Amino acid sequence: MIVGVLKEPSFESRVSLLAEGAATLTKRKVEVWVESGAGEKAFCPDSEYEKAGAVVRPRTDLLASADLLLSIHFDDIPALLQHKMLVGIYQPLYNPELMSAWGRQHITSFSLDMLPRTTRAQSMDVLSSQANIAGYKAVLTAADLFPRYFPMFMTAAGSIPPAKVLILGAGVAGLQAIATARRLGAVVEVFDTRPAAKEEVMSLGGKFIEVEGAADASAAGGYAVQQSAEFQQRQKEKIAASVGKADIVITTAAIPGRKAPILVTAEMIGAMKRGSVIIDLAAATGGNTELTVDRETVVHGGVTIVGNSSLAAGLPYDASKLYGRNVLNFLQLIIDKEGGIALNFADDLVKGCCITHDGQVVHERVLQMIDHG
Ligand code: NAD
Repeated sequence: MIVGVLKEPSFESRVSLLAEGAATLTKRKVEVWVESGAGEKAFCPDSEYEKAGAVVRPRTDLLASADLLLSIHFDDIPALLQHKMLVGIYQPLYNPELMSAWGRQHITSFSLDMLPRTTRAQSMDVLSSQANIAGYKAVLTAADLFPRYFPMFMTAAGSIPPAKVLILGAGVAGLQAIATARRLGAVVEVFDTRPAAKEEVMSLGGKFIEVEGAADASAAGGYAVQQSAEFQQRQKEKIAASVGKADIVITTAAIPGRKAPILVTAEMIGAMKRGSVIIDLAAATGGNTELTVDRETVVHGGVTIVGNSSLAAGLPYDASKLYGRNVLNFLQLIIDKEGGIALNFADDLVKGCCITHDGQVVHERVLQMIDHG
């Protein structure tokens, strides 16, 4: 079997597999073909792949002859590709039409963002490995744009107060953002709708702001759920008070399969101090602020708003390394000892992230999205 590592679209600097990952696959009787230049932006040149036993080929060869293609994004996958296997992050709940097309084109697609968040899936959990990096990079990006210090200083020339960082959403990215901001000496406040997040926030030295009456999310596999209008109003008032005091706001609030909730209004941003910075990691699903523009940085009344859900790409080597390990761990489930494909749909992980197979969409939640238009 041939596994092809495609070069990602121009906005991406990561690659699905570094040379070390290619070496692991070639030892398992799998041929690895790498598109020329695929790892360049992740500091993994073609020569490294060749040393690892992979073959460097032009894109057309991979698209024609590879059995399984690794591509984080779908953007550059040819619209009429047929009878291939794809592994990446395709956000199928937001792209149901594309999934329908892939089904018709007999593409077997595995979208790793749909893996169940179970203990056995942890080693393949691309959302966690990449969110962890994004949370870290969000704080560094904010510190870089912020015209003041993060830590408190008492100097002969006067004292500097610590920066106030507000984090909305204490999932994997939010928790790493808390840890990083604390390491830089900031004071950190945090909101999340899941009461379970409180203890984690406090253990990292953040202050958890409670809002009474959050909807019970215990049946949602650890994820957040849609909140009532009353809760949203109460939360809005408390967030407005915190945004007004904050120098930096990092937003990460997401609800799987839905548009991100708007938590920071234009009015709240208008009341922030000039020089303040907002980093919106939920930009790809609409953003957590009213003024976020995905993949853009906008300045409103002296406040810089960075809309970027791909901040992990800012650390392309480590992001690719961890993503590649996640991919290899997943491939172990679908590649047999002879280096061939063996799909076992009785395995909840294989079934859980398989979106299209055998000429149709097979994932229940994606089918529901298609049915509801
Ligand atoms: P996510 O990216 O889906 O969302 C980020 C955070 O935003 C979540 O903590 C969510 O509760 C919060 N949020 C959503 N709406 C909000 C609102 N209106 N106001 C404030 N906060 C809001 O989350 P994630 O990082 O993918 O983590 C989701 C869950 O999965 C967490 O409970 C996490 O601990 C869990 N998890 C489990 C495993 C595992 O067991 N294998 C691995 C990773 C994550």
